[in-house]
Amino acid sequence: MLFGPQDLRVEELPEPGTADGEALVEVQAATTCGTDVKMWRHGHRVLPPYPCRFGHETAGVRTDTGERVLVSDSVACGACDPCRAGRAQICRSPTWVLGGFAERIAAPAAALHPIPDGLPAEAAAMAEPLAAAVHAVARGTDANDVGILGGGPMGLMLTSLLVGQGRDVTVADPHEERREQAEELGANAAEGLDDRHALVFEAVGRVDAWRDAAAAAAPGGVVVLVGGCPSGTEVSFQTGPLHYEELEFRGSFHHSPEEIDEALAVLAADRALWRTLRGPTISLEQLPEALRAPTRGPSRKWVVNPRL
Ligand SMILES: [Zn+2]
Ligand SMILES: [Zn+2]
Repeated sequence: MLFGPQDLRVEELPEPGTADGEALVEVQAATTCGTDVKMWRHGHRVLPPYPCRFGHETAGVRTDTGERVLVSDSVACGACDPCRAGRAQICRSPTWVLGGFAERIAAPAAALHPIPDGLPAEAAAMAEPLAAAVHAVARGTDANDVGILGGGPMGLMLTSLLVGQGRDVTVADPHEERREQAEELGANAAEGLDDRHALVFEAVGRVDAWRDAAAAAAPGGVVVLVGGCPSGTEVSFQTGPLHYEELEFRGSFHHSPEEIDEALAVLAADRALWRTLRGPTISLEQLPEALRAPTRGPSRKWVVNPRL
């Protein structure tokens, strides 16, 4: 339970109750990501009031049917304008499903996706962020020449998907270990994006990176902005390239339910990405320490196994 910023405690709680249309899932694995670090450090707009549960990359077993499932972090309302336009990822009033860092989680049945046979729970949990990468790729174009700014988990997930499509990918990251991970996945790697690319993905979530991504787009290019900056952040761009070179900036947020199924299929078909990003398996008690760990070195997703 999060009791406030940087106040995370492991507590015995009553079994979560299930409302109509919900199911109880026994958690087998919940992976950590940058959003968890933000939630732990400062709180987050989607967190319920403290004390609250969190953890949003969750895989486990339904206690009613025994089916292995990925628990999506949200269910779209289905009624707002974006939902009706087929853009569930920008639903105006989604129900967030948080609480994967626990032995059990109650979730709407609509949030549950069957895990393909043979795909381990810890790899399946990563389908949630991978679905956001699937979505970001769909927001881009089919250009062959791709630059990715950022070799964190999102940058590497994008790398894996785009290399898998046979594209020519360059990943920029100042950390040598992350450049090596990008190369392992079949990309070129550099400290920065020096050349300009037809398609650029920003996967850092900082003002300077948004600017660098814009500067790295070739004339007529498309920039997909994947990394979220703190709320209220403003960023300025040179107007010249936007106007005279018809650059296009596209936001990319979250994913649709179909993109989660696609991500699960990708993970089931090829383990290379999981092997690259897999971090140590830890217990719930070790989670605060893991969230506090500095984010240097290679990109890794910790796997919380609540039964340890
Ligand atoms: Zn995440
Ligand atoms: Zn909606």
